[in-house]
Amino acid sequence: MKYIALPGMIILLFLFQNSFAQQKDTIPAVTTFRFKTVVIDAGHGGKDAGARGSHSFEKNVTLSIALKLKAALDTAITDVNAILTRTDDTFIPLNQRSAIANQNHGNLFISIHCNSSPEGTAARAHKQKGVLMLVYGFHRLKEQEEAVRENASIFQEKDYKQNYESYDESDPSNLIVLNAYIQKYRKQSIRFGDLLDDEFTGVDGRESNGVKEQGVLVLAHSAMPAVLIETGFINNPEEEEYLNSDEGQHEIVMTIIRALRNYRKAIGA
Ligand SMILES: [Zn+2]
Repeated sequence: MKYIALPGMIILLFLFQNSFAQQKDTIPAVTTFRFKTVVIDAGHGGKDAGARGSHSFEKNVTLSIALKLKAALDTAITDVNAILTRTDDTFIPLNQRSAIANQNHGNLFISIHCNSSPEGTAARAHKQKGVLMLVYGFHRLKEQEEAVRENASIFQEKDYKQNYESYDESDPSNLIVLNAYIQKYRKQSIRFGDLLDDEFTGVDGRESNGVKEQGVLVLAHSAMPAVLIETGFINNPEEEEYLNSDEGQHEIVMTIIRALRNYRKAIGA
């Protein structure tokens, strides 16, 4: 908090107040909340390969994990419907992914990705490892290394300038404040992120880089709690092998399912 200048604080407080006022007026009387749908998003696809390892592409790893997650969810949690944003090697624009989630009235959006450090597959790159959970929340434009890399998918889209009007990185010192709509889901997203973190570290013994708030576009327009999971560093040979193995993918899938069960318990759904 110490980095936020006073005028920024005032704007923040104003926005908070404003959002509470708005929420009072607009929240419908919800009687029973049913957790029905999880949207699983396999990152990248088609012409957008995502990050590269020494012998594999992120887009293939994410699809394989997403398909396994759907199959496992269909068996393990039968009262929840799992929707995939893609089922094959197709390019899907980021805004279309959130549109699919919103049209299906998802209760949770899980985007599967792989991390990569800037060195690529150079020998000195092999030290970084572990998972990372990203949620869309308060962030500074200059403190979002992973989001910038994941958001680069939009440059594969012909009309990205029209489609992502608000995507402006010209002022790197800006603190991005959130509208009421997004604030509604921020806390629950962090909660799910924390539960994932617990499972990855506590049960699988994975290293974790924690839960971070960044300006991830694929999460920004999803009208539901949403978490992007960087399942490991594809440019680290050890993790690339794990990420491509049936065993590793199965472990990641089961971890997400346990975290999902805990999340539903936590929110009483
Ligand atoms: Zn990615």
